[in-house]
Amino acid sequence: MRLYDLIIKKRNGEALLKEEWQFLINGYVAETIPDYQVSALLMTVYFKGLTLQEMTDLTDAMMHSGETIDLSGIEGVIVDKHSTGGVGDKTSLILGPMVAAAGVKMAKLSGRGLGHTGGTIDKLESFTGFTTELIEQEFIDQVNSIGLAIIGQTKNLVPADKKLYALRDVTGTVDSNGLIASSIMSKKLVSGADVIVLDVKMGSGAFMKTYEQAADLAEKMVKIGERMDKKVMALITEMEQPLGRAVGNALEVKEAIDTLKGKGPEDITKLCMELGAHILYLSELVGTVEEGYTKLQSVIDSGEAFDKFRQFVAMQKGNVSQVDDTSLLPKSDFTLEVESSETGYVSKLDALKVGLISLALGAGRVTKEDDIDLSAGVYLCKKVGEKVKKGECLAILHGNSQEELLRQKEELLKAYQVDLKDVMLPEIVKGIVTRKQLKLS
Ligand code: URA
Repeated sequence: MRLYDLIIKKRNGEALLKEEWQFLINGYVAETIPDYQVSALLMTVYFKGLTLQEMTDLTDAMMHSGETIDLSGIEGVIVDKHSTGGVGDKTSLILGPMVAAAGVKMAKLSGRGLGHTGGTIDKLESFTGFTTELIEQEFIDQVNSIGLAIIGQTKNLVPADKKLYALRDVTGTVDSNGLIASSIMSKKLVSGADVIVLDVKMGSGAFMKTYEQAADLAEKMVKIGERMDKKVMALITEMEQPLGRAVGNALEVKEAIDTLKGKGPEDITKLCMELGAHILYLSELVGTVEEGYTKLQSVIDSGEAFDKFRQFVAMQKGNVSQVDDTSLLPKSDFTLEVESSETGYVSKLDALKVGLISLALGAGRVTKEDDIDLSAGVYLCKKVGEKVKKGECLAILHGNSQEELLRQKEELLKAYQVDLKDVMLPEIVKGIVTRKQLKLS
């Protein structure tokens, strides 16, 4: 087989076969196929698209391009969740304990933040001593014991995606939904969950800017999952403005704890309930999604969800007193309250801008090697649809450099738009994509 022939075949509008995708992926990882040929193929895919079968075959080839994880030692239904990334997205910290308290097993591999979006691993490191480096057997034992573990990725999983993504990044081929769907699903499926819920963000702070793009991606991923015999569903959710009110690691951890106690912001609570109810339903723990809501509400009201979070932090060697008393979490030396210069309703709050402000204050990384400041970030006093008076708090900036806080105050004012006329509160969930129910084997 020659890659040259596959480029021509794809360029002429034909679909590539399973063994041809395997040839490409294996050859690229083994470095027997050069970047320039893969670049040409990627560009043909960008213009010609991929059939569902091609996406599935590409996903499968990527999944098996490196080491894999064997979760067969976990008893019961294993669930996982993936978000396409947003600003203030602390969903995993809330959803994991909620669904584990309700009776399913969440075995989750998470990443660190890069650019304007945060990462779950960084957030968890707000707890002194917290470790995300468990060996595979410890990971499995913890999930069997308390129903929840979240670790970083240490194995060489899906190396094909790392190489391909880097190449796509410099060849103008990132924003092809078929490639994105295969990339995301290869990384999700390799970690072995039976049930996967996907949170596809749309809006200014998200990868997908429009509903149509987000729905198309969601549908592709759900269909790939179905072909791989997994139960997968997706929510399309709003990311015009940040999720919740807290953006930045320790600030988000505090908000997650509040939410587990039933005192979180409405949008993040709704999102976690919706994702969680679908997880319980697809896991066959409940008979309907509505029963899933009821079950989750009961584990919040009874304190079981919060207790599960405490247990989880303790098992991963974090300081539990910081869970009980969130004032012990990392705190910045300075805060700066940004006041509104007008009276009206918040009509826009730019998620991307808030993410960049948080990054500039030290909460994120520009390059993978950067250190982060766990205490830094932004607390949003006002969100879209809320009334604000002149002189009232719009947001509070947290940071360790007074000059940077002053610079970011100007940026924050640009992230908000206040209008005189009443604005509707936005709906967090914009759409739901489900496929036919598969029976768990
Ligand atoms: N995120 C991924 O993991 N892969 C893509 O291709 C794009 C976004």
